[in-house]
Amino acid sequence: AFRPAAAATRTTCGYCGVGCALDVIAQGGEVTAVLPARDGPVNHGHACVKGRFAHGFVTSPERLTQPLLRRGGSLEPVGWDEALAHVSRGLRAAVDAGGPDSVAAISSARATNEDNYLIQKFMRVVIGTNNVDNCSRLCHSPSAAGLTASFGLSGGTDSFDDVERADCLLIVGANPVEAHPVVGARLLNRVLHGAGLVVADPRAVGLALHADVHLRPRPGTNVALFHGLAHVLLAEGLTDEEFLCERTSGLPELTELLAGYPPDRVAGITGVPAADLVAAARLYGRAERPAIVYGLGVTEHLHGTDGVRSLANLAILRGAVGTDGGCGVNPLRGQNNVQGASDMGALPDVLPGYGRVADPAVRSRAEDVWGVPVPGRPGLRIPDMFAAARSGDLRALWVIGEDVCATDPDANRVAEALGACPLVICSELFLSETARHADVVLPVASWLEKDGTFVNFDRRFQRVRPAVPLPGEARTDFDTVRAVATAMGVDLGCATPADALAECGGLAPVFAGLSHQRLDREGAVPWPCPDPDEPGEAKLYTERFATSDGRAHLAAAPYLPPGEQPDDHYPLILVTGRRWAHYNSGSMTRRGGNLALDPVDFLDLHSDDAARYAVRDGEEVTVESRHGRARLIARVGEQTAPGQVFCSFHFPASGVNRLTSHHADAVTSCPEYKVTAVRVVVS
Ligand code: SF4
Repeated sequence: AFRPAAAATRTTCGYCGVGCALDVIAQGGEVTAVLPARDGPVNHGHACVKGRFAHGFVTSPERLTQPLLRRGGSLEPVGWDEALAHVSRGLRAAVDAGGPDSVAAISSARATNEDNYLIQKFMRVVIGTNNVDNCSRLCHSPSAAGLTASFGLSGGTDSFDDVERADCLLIVGANPVEAHPVVGARLLNRVLHGAGLVVADPRAVGLALHADVHLRPRPGTNVALFHGLAHVLLAEGLTDEEFLCERTSGLPELTELLAGYPPDRVAGITGVPAADLVAAARLYGRAERPAIVYGLGVTEHLHGTDGVRSLANLAILRGAVGTDGGCGVNPLRGQNNVQGASDMGALPDVLPGYGRVADPAVRSRAEDVWGVPVPGRPGLRIPDMFAAARSGDLRALWVIGEDVCATDPDANRVAEALGACPLVICSELFLSETARHADVVLPVASWLEKDGTFVNFDRRFQRVRPAVPLPGEARTDFDTVRAVATAMGVDLGCATPADALAECGGLAPVFAGLSHQRLDREGAVPWPCPDPDEPGEAKLYTERFATSDGRAHLAAAPYLPPGEQPDDHYPLILVTGRRWAHYNSGSMTRRGGNLALDPVDFLDLHSDDAARYAVRDGEEVTVESRHGRARLIARVGEQTAPGQVFCSFHFPASGVNRLTSHHADAVTSCPEYKVTAVRVVVS
């Protein structure tokens, strides 16, 4: 019963990970209206200001419509034949000179599942390397690592429909009212209808106004905060003894560790009053169906994976995961298809469906499907690719849909890496910061012009359909990757995106029950879905966890401090994040009406700090860190805590990611975007 409105194309929003179903109306190649689908499985007739109005970029005169090739220092328009010949010759020369591991690709959530499947297949089959990674490295890679270690699979544990039935919400390090507005509204609705609410976030984010308890930990102290909450759960008997006995492991080690995290000590580390900590733990621990929802405020830290696992401990102690007694642990994915990009194996250590490349049995299954040997050595992660480029070991890099020069941390060093790499290929909509550093720029389709699927934050596959034609000579990522393979003498197979999803299901059993035809019929289907006749698992682990022993694993990682601390020179802590009208580097949302809604980036700072550093509301300031500097407009208020400042990364021209550091999660290399020591200078 999924029927689009008349003359509309039903597709899935290409901005945040909520995955709103949209009916797009177009005329003469232009999008004239976007209507939220009333039968949208997640959005139920709602959409936010991004999904509804940020479509003007499609016909922007700045769209790339022809390939560009660097000649004599400048990028010049060329035909596809010339561009493909240059790319294929360059990749072949890199492999000949430095071996397959001297080539790497960075994919992204901009690409559909089918695009991502083909990109990783290209790198493994045509180039012969596992050097492929995607933008989840920079946001939710600690979720994948942490949730897999605790429960067995990398996705959130419950469907959002289930979360909406919770009687207590613990929302951590997320600002869904701005970053995931449709979910934010649904969560708020739940609270207004009686659910308890604990918000743990350094800032007074929108939902904090409605919270029973708002915990404001110092940035970088999450692990101590979660251990403090767990300490209270144990001390007050707010745990599920039967569940702990029958379905978990690691309780003795965790109990020993938690003895060192009484509320008073945790208050000293985090700045959260002990009484608030106890009140929050009691609210979560005494609820009948508590849910944990979290965002990048948990993951983008030096100890992000420890943060995810320590947060998961709370649900395990309470017996609130894999049972009717709770709604689990659920990451809010920032980008439309960041879950799917990883699901499809655009990662250096796993193949589609998360089988490890180092495992011969996993490789053998892929080799049976692809007909060629698959390399067994895990490839480079994104930061390692840049390091390899700077050291001369990387000879070619293909960046697909990710503006790494604007969104990756320590951006000056990223630009240096691209400058040192002999061949940089960039697939893009616009002449982005990264495209300006490229040797070849390939014009590609946006989410409104392509065919395939996305996976949203609660693991639902949904269809993406072209609503408007491609501009000029632009091609889809799917066709571009196939064309490069053909130019290199290899037929990648998979003539259509539907073929690619079918092939993926053949080597990854968790996706075997999915197909475009089925999604056209049913609208949305969650993975795991091994059987075309079964509905897919919206709620995970109801019988056993997917770990090797079938148990949920409690983690006993001690609190360790963040990579940077304030000092006399850099006395403030910068936290970066999202604002309501824009999306990531803003390349799409800044080209249209949304710019009027949110026209510049602000540096939010507390009025006490404004007085201390003589900053006036509305004046332009310089922000300096140990890594670089940026220019922003000061906005004085009370949303940030004293000693902290906040800004977005939607306006690359302000240079925010020249400030952020190289510190990264030890397990996953996810950057510590949430803790950078800075100073504010009025000049
Ligand atoms: Fe929905 Fe997110 Fe798109 Fe907004 S940006 S319409 S909340 S999917």
